Amino acid sequence: MRTKILLDENDLPRKWYNIQADLPRPLDPAYNPQTGQPIGPEDLAPIFAKELIRQEVSTDRYITIPDEVRDILTLWRPSPLYRAHRLEAALGTPAKIYYKYEGVSPPGSHKPNTAIAQAYYNMKDGIERIATETGAGQWGSSLAFATQLFGLDCTVYMVRGSYDQKPYRKMMMQCWGAECIPSPSPLTNAGRAILEKDPETSGSLGIAISEAVEDAAGKSTTNYSLGSVLNHVCLHQSVIGLETKEQLAMDEAEADIVIGCAGGGSNFAGLAFPFVKDKLDGKSPDLEIIATEPTACPTLTKGLYAYDYGDVAGYTPIMRMFTLGHGFIPPSIHAGGLRYHGMAPLVSLLHQEGVIGSRAYHQNEVFEAAVRFARTEGIIVAPEAAHAVRTVIDCANECTKTGEEKTIVFNCSGHGHFDLTSYEAYFAGALPDYEYPADLIAESLKDLPRV
Ligand SMILES: *Cc1c(COP(=O)(O)O)cnc(C)c1O
Repeated sequence: MRTKILLDENDLPRKWYNIQADLPRPLDPAYNPQTGQPIGPEDLAPIFAKELIRQEVSTDRYITIPDEVRDILTLWRPSPLYRAHRLEAALGTPAKIYYKYEGVSPPGSHKPNTAIAQAYYNMKDGIERIATETGAGQWGSSLAFATQLFGLDCTVYMVRGSYDQKPYRKMMMQCWGAECIPSPSPLTNAGRAILEKDPETSGSLGIAISEAVEDAAGKSTTNYSLGSVLNHVCLHQSVIGLETKEQLAMDEAEADIVIGCAGGGSNFAGLAFPFVKDKLDGKSPDLEIIATEPTACPTLTKGLYAYDYGDVAGYTPIMRMFTLGHGFIPPSIHAGGLRYHGMAPLVSLLHQEGVIGSRAYHQNEVFEAAVRFARTEGIIVAPEAAHAVRTVIDCANECTKTGEEKTIVFNCSGHGHFDLTSYEAYFAGALPDYEYPADLIAESLKDLPRV
């Protein structure tokens, strides 16, 4: 019985899969927050590369991956698909469990799959510097790595709470030549406004996005880059699912359940969308596809499908998505990542249409699953990925009850080597379970923009 299912370098996909060609209905338009008009390419041109804007709205089913991008992806791709024999045995489940491991990239997660592509297209457009935000530091370090390979400068606004708690990610960004600034910062109008109200704030992704967008919008040779949520990011991540389908076929397996954790939705989309295509095509009507998230930031399970800003200050396009309200600030006791208030419009639409499902978990049950995984499969997963592990174990236990031999596939989106303080807090019993209260969600949702 095989443990690792490996593809050859030549099998790295030559095209990305674009689910916009196959949606049950088209995405709703995004709106310009200043003019109230639908967004056109000219609205995005000041901060995004031309080709990325084209990809954002493209309905071509497949889009060719440039050779320069493929060359760099081969540093770690195709990534391995593992059969989790030891976890299966420990659970005593008849289910077969597979995981796609994205922790093999140099920064340790799936995020460089899009960082490389984005840095490449910006370089092609003559851009010299990219500004971005980062939460736990995974995205910042991925973009630092990517921009370095294409000779671009990089400034990362890092959520203050993580900047203080996770210094190693900041050092990685430095190793890859980027500048890392705690957010909110006094360098931008958005940052100064927040600091005036609350000098002790631990920040949020929404605030950091506002700072990075403001930085990029003010300079013609600086562009902005987002590590999740947008359509072109989901597109670039599709290599995960495309490879996984090949690898499952090599093991003569077919997925019954596909699982990914969802913050902004990109690693989930990357694994799931090529499978969603089969479901929409009627090839696998019974396939269950589950996005999993924390009860402390329950975007899909408790949020509203509505128009909202992507950031706190209201600089970004207004998009229709599942949201907890752009002013949502996750509780600082929440250690597991996945803290963004919104969700990728593509993932949101599929959730709204009932094509995909969602589940939410408390942080102790999530870390309990992560530790079980480490003690069987060896890999210490990122706390984000641990949400997927929790769902996998629950689904496998359901199979044990029913006797069904389902095939469960999940995206192990990254390793947790720089998140060990969260594991430490779990072992110390210092992680309170927290469910974001319904009345606070309702409060935050009062501020939705009108379109
Ligand atoms: C950033 C990150 C996530 C969450 O982001 P998505 O866009 O939802 O994928 C999940 N896992 C890891 C390891 C991450 O670094």
